[in-house]
Amino acid sequence: MTDTIFAPATAPGRAALAVVRLSGPGVRDAVAALAGGVPSPRRASLRRLRDLDGAPIDEALTFWFPGPASYTGEDGAEFHVHGGLAVVDALVEALSALGLRLAEPGEFTRRAFQNGKLDLAQAEAVADLIDAETSAQARQALDQLGGNLSRRYDGWREALVEALAVLEAAVDFPDEDLPEDVAARARGPLEGLQRELQAALLDSERGRRVREGFRIALVGAPNAGKSSLLNALAERDAAIVTATPGTTRDVIEVPLVLGGYKALLADTAGVRETDEAIEAEGVRRARAWAEDADLRIWVVDAHGSDGAWREAGELARAGDLCLLNKADLVTGLDGDRARAAAADKGLETLDVSLKSGGVEAVRSWLTERVVAALSAAEFPAATRLRHAESLREAAERVARALAQREPELAAEDVRLAARALERVSGRVDPEAVLDRVFSSFCIGK
Ligand code: GDP
Ligand code: ZN
Repeated sequence: MTDTIFAPATAPGRAALAVVRLSGPGVRDAVAALAGGVPSPRRASLRRLRDLDGAPIDEALTFWFPGPASYTGEDGAEFHVHGGLAVVDALVEALSALGLRLAEPGEFTRRAFQNGKLDLAQAEAVADLIDAETSAQARQALDQLGGNLSRRYDGWREALVEALAVLEAAVDFPDEDLPEDVAARARGPLEGLQRELQAALLDSERGRRVREGFRIALVGAPNAGKSSLLNALAERDAAIVTATPGTTRDVIEVPLVLGGYKALLADTAGVRETDEAIEAEGVRRARAWAEDADLRIWVVDAHGSDGAWREAGELARAGDLCLLNKADLVTGLDGDRARAAAADKGLETLDVSLKSGGVEAVRSWLTERVVAALSAAEFPAATRLRHAESLREAAERVARALAQREPELAAEDVRLAARALERVSGRVDPEAVLDRVFSSFCIGK
């Protein structure tokens, strides 16, 4: 028993148009009551909407989507009204007066999932597409929405089911006419599958990075130019730039778009030893952010000579960038020492003056790096942590199956591996993830 829901599907506020959508068994009656009749299915029909007292609400393009050929699979409708607050409010009130309920976030898509219109990975892709801020995020979400991610899991699952059939035959007919190595026949396919799952797992960070952003941490001593770099890359004043060391006390995170990909840039200032309790917590967080980041930019005041170059330098790893800043000034001892240390550690170095336009060199270096890290011929098989968790569990189960001596035990591991993969599409255990998946949606979707 479902009730009938409605919600404005467009963002609130003054706009040319607003869309209010409906879904559920009471839609036909509601449309008839407001629009004076039900238009032909899936055809735009211009109708005068009136509330229950007969007062006009608006002229609206009205659509009637009888189920099951609708987004949710239920009867649905849309009113395209003028986007004024008063119009939308009046329509919302009229729908409430008819006994319809305002939808929860993601409830339309949740119903679509429950009615088999979408699987869970596709439902996630709907949310991702709505949230997409970069072209790469949108492309990845569209590919997932089209079912490509789910199809890869289905393919792996089918291979597991075939291996399972072989193993079960070995269990059922242990010493009959079957060749002795019947269980061994499952080995080759399982080994191939394990390689594929491992490769997908290794690649799984990439999909999350596309969705959530490639993480870049700025580390370096106070006064090196981190805030200057952050502001210049963000093209706004997100961090305070001052000549007083230690102004930034916590992690400041700004989103960037580099080569069509989302990146998160964080100023992890205050990565210094300190006694003060509050600052110590800030330092701990900053350090953790820098260690988890995909890339660190170690910013050095190349003009300095007071030994400050050492600070935070130990956080840098091979492949990171050492930015020797203040190239407009005479190079001091710090610059030379940091350059030598960077070469030692396998860091690339870049000489810039952030004061005189050096940011563009940094931006192109970063863009090249982010594109290289995130682009590939194939979309990733995991775009969320829960996909990666399923992949990991499946890979572990397959590894265990390969190590089992008894076909019976191997079969059980293979069964559990298939189950782990089925979780991605929501074919099994959907309850465990439904709330998590749909709580991130906006109202009206
Ligand atoms: P942070 O403490 O690492 O965040 O450093 P800031 O970005 O706050 O910069 C510290 C000081 O260095 C400020 O006075 C900046 O104007 C100055 N500064 C930053 N980049 C350059 C540069 O390329 N050349 C010169 N001469 N000064 C710079
Ligand atoms: Zn700063």
